[in-house]
Amino acid sequence: MRELNCLIVGAGPVGLTLATELEFFGVKARLIDKSLAPATESRALALWSRTLEHLALRGEVEAFIEQGLKMNGIEAYSNGVRLFKLDFGRLRTPYPYALIVPQFMTEKILTAHLMGQGGRIERGVELRSYEVTDHGIEVVLWNHESNQEEKTCVDYLFGCDGAHSVVRHGLNIHFQGSAEEETWILGDVDVEGPLSRDTLSSFFSKKGALAFIPMPNGQVRLFSSRGCIDDRPVTLEELQSLADDACPFKLTLSNPTWLTPFKINERVGNHYHDGRVILLGDAAHIHSPAGGQGMNTGMQDAINLGWKIAEIAKGGREDILLASYGLERRHVGKEVVERATRMTHMIMMRNPLLVKLRNFVFPKLVKLPKIVKALTETMSEISIFYKQSPLVIGPHDHPGHPGTRLLEGQLDGASLYARCRVPQHTLLVFGGRESDHKALQRACPYPVNLIAIGETNQGLYQAYHVRSPCWILVRPDHYLAARGGITDFKHLQQYFKEVTLH
Ligand SMILES: Cc1cc2nc3c(=O)[nH]c(=O)nc-3n(C[C@H](O)[C@H](O)[C@H](O)COP(=O)(O)OP(=O)(O)OC[C@H]3O[C@@H](n4cnc5c(N)ncnc54)[C@H](O)[C@@H]3O)c2cc1C
Repeated sequence: MRELNCLIVGAGPVGLTLATELEFFGVKARLIDKSLAPATESRALALWSRTLEHLALRGEVEAFIEQGLKMNGIEAYSNGVRLFKLDFGRLRTPYPYALIVPQFMTEKILTAHLMGQGGRIERGVELRSYEVTDHGIEVVLWNHESNQEEKTCVDYLFGCDGAHSVVRHGLNIHFQGSAEEETWILGDVDVEGPLSRDTLSSFFSKKGALAFIPMPNGQVRLFSSRGCIDDRPVTLEELQSLADDACPFKLTLSNPTWLTPFKINERVGNHYHDGRVILLGDAAHIHSPAGGQGMNTGMQDAINLGWKIAEIAKGGREDILLASYGLERRHVGKEVVERATRMTHMIMMRNPLLVKLRNFVFPKLVKLPKIVKALTETMSEISIFYKQSPLVIGPHDHPGHPGTRLLEGQLDGASLYARCRVPQHTLLVFGGRESDHKALQRACPYPVNLIAIGETNQGLYQAYHVRSPCWILVRPDHYLAARGGITDFKHLQQYFKEVTLH
């Protein structure tokens, strides 16, 4: 494996995930953050099913579950009447809920995992500027502790530096989108009253909408919009007055631990990388917190990219690997931004006719099983499907087919996920003889994690829609890359031709 000189800018959840992924695959990276200490704000609260699946596949999910609170659904009231309740319980995942963990805790757990793998964060080190030259990427850093400038040259620059990304500003990338013309407000407070502890409760009234998210420390996150640009500080009295107006029962708010106004921008980069300068997370896409997708999408950007950088270090095809990152993740980012924008506008609705229409139509829609499935699978991010990619051979939007995710199941009485916790491609082989398995291994350019699945594992046969002996290749980011009959290597070889120079 070649040694790559990698610089990750930003130790938020996305930079931390990327650094942990690179360590997992044996790639050393330097991780810097301009702040001298970790953030202490609760910010992003929800870790959705797909992110939890990824964390489980790295053996890291338990630490999050220990600290988190399981949010099982969403309910909405309008003028005192319950409109609907959407349950996540039927999602086909080991994690059919949103796990509520304040962002500072998510960052703390990710930092502990990174350090456990031998990584570290250089705090107080800021990227000031950079220039792409023939020799590499010349970066100018500033150390806030020693007050000294450092100039160095790196091979890869990863911009995980958030919404105001210096890395993005240095590129010719258009951050397409707009800003909402309203100020939003949030508060983490104690609440006395009959609020559910495992559900997001939202209340629509003439003044707009007010949402309550239960938090693991016993507090509740409230958020709402002021309906205009108004950046005054948020007060407990303002939130109490909103609760009095919108809620059908009495809620008494107290002990605010975080109150803040904020603005919503909805933007996505028109591409995610230029050569070896690559954007991830909020640096590449930002949107409203409605739906709680931002941090999850960013962490999944990092999971998509980490193994590809490791393949490049092993001598893989840089052009295809980096292009696939941009294609796969920009498509996801664009859809996330568009959905969050639609959701925000639906929440912000004040036109009485449209409000009536929303309140009439939505409760009917969420009674239809197909709609519930589509809504909850999208929100939980388990429906993410990579179709626009050279690294998915024969994409097919159906569970168990290329482009979709690795499904958990019982393999000889144990977890399939547990067998996939390796920094390698996995080849699931359903049926066939030992000689077929050996031939499949030989068809791969390097050793893969071959898992033979016998017919006694009918649950897996059904989940993957297997009717005759076959193989399924799983990428190290747990998406299915290719599939074929037991003696049919065409798609296997086609895939590895894209990834490697073999
Ligand atoms: C109120 C609110 C609620 C939210 N709720 C949710 C939610 O429920 N679910 C969800 O998924 N998302 C939510 N989000 C969004 C989420 O917080 C962000 O998507 C997430 O923090 C993005 O992570 P990141 O690592 O890309 O960027 P950031 O978390 O912004 O981290 C960037 C890091 O880069 C560092 N940095 C910046 N510039 C430099 C530089 N030049 N040199 C060195 N270091 C630098 C910063 O110090 C920072 O540590 C919410 C956001 C807000 C504001």
